[in-house]
Amino acid sequence: MGRNNICFCGSGLKQKKCHPDINEESRAAKVIKLHKKIDIAIENHYKNTNFTPVCYDGCSECCYDYFVISDIEFAIILYELRKWSQLEIEELRQNVKMQWEFLNINFPELVDNLEKYATNKNDVFEKDFMLRVQKTGLPCPFLDAKSNNCKIYNVRPSVCRSFGTGFIDKDSYQNNIICSKIGNSIEAKVWQTDISNFENDLLSLTNLYCEKYDLSVSRRAYPIVYELYLSLIKYKSDIEIPKMYEKFSLKEKEYIRRIMEENKIL
Ligand code: SF4
Ligand code: SF4
Ligand SMILES: [Zn+2]
Repeated sequence: MGRNNICFCGSGLKQKKCHPDINEESRAAKVIKLHKKIDIAIENHYKNTNFTPVCYDGCSECCYDYFVISDIEFAIILYELRKWSQLEIEELRQNVKMQWEFLNINFPELVDNLEKYATNKNDVFEKDFMLRVQKTGLPCPFLDAKSNNCKIYNVRPSVCRSFGTGFIDKDSYQNNIICSKIGNSIEAKVWQTDISNFENDLLSLTNLYCEKYDLSVSRRAYPIVYELYLSLIKYKSDIEIPKMYEKFSLKEKEYIRRIMEENKIL
């Protein structure tokens, strides 16, 4: 497919005007297409039923939750941040710096766990999961304080696209409180969109599979604030944002091989 062809993302624009440096067979393109499919499934569900989602423009209680996203979804966000001005990036950096200091003072255990190197042999993953039920009281750094809207709406991760509006049914489905407006997750299933079809795709967001060595690796997922802290503060280099997204020109298999090599997995 040439750059003059219609973009893989479904925008209807030519690729050169839309996602010029993303290979349509890359891992990033796969995720962007998945995001679109989730959006369409949710939109169609509410169009074709009498149900109306409770979520509305400007509702942001769930943006205060402590949750994690896959590294590939964060890389897609970084790609989008190239469109931001230096001033906007600097404001984001200051916001993240303040949040990180707050977490260090008020949630030292959470910070300690985030900073720990994780292998399948230690309890870091399990602790990640337990700590996630905490509420830190901090908004997502991408929540606009004035409008209460998401500043990265078009590239928001899958969890933000489906939280409140969709569900994945599985045996371990928990009877949780989604938010104060929706309440109980089991009761909400009656009217929410069933997105179980995407369960494997969603699980694969944090998995890398290398066919050549028949090797599967689970990547650790981090909260957005920690990913931003790593990119904008801890590993800040001369360029404003590390070029994780540079690998988007690679086909998925090559991308996985490079990531595994860089992390000394292969
Ligand atoms: S999930 Fe709840 S808090 Fe989040 S947007 Fe929907 S109604 Fe609002
Ligand atoms: S990425 Fe956007 S929708 Fe998701 S938590 Fe942050 S502000 Fe809310
Ligand atoms: Zn596109």
